[in-house]
Amino acid sequence: MKQVSAFRINLNNIEGSGDFPCPSCGVIISPDDDSEKTYRIIDIETHKDGSLKTLSLLCKKCNATIILEGFEALNILDG
Ligand SMILES: [Zn+2]
Repeated sequence: MKQVSAFRINLNNIEGSGDFPCPSCGVIISPDDDSEKTYRIIDIETHKDGSLKTLSLLCKKCNATIILEGFEALNILDG
């Protein structure tokens, strides 16, 4: 049986540039890093208006699934 466990990270709890350690193995995951060396985007969920709702990442070190949420607040700040 395949075990599915996902960590949830709220972006509102991340300070600075948005880097955060993988909750499972501690490797630093940087949203600005699109080289896919440390993580891979496996799912994107958007609101009806097209704005980001959640982003599901797969840590390449430990294969943990990490669900990023809280993009709504970021959009407000950017606006
Ligand atoms: Zn990891």
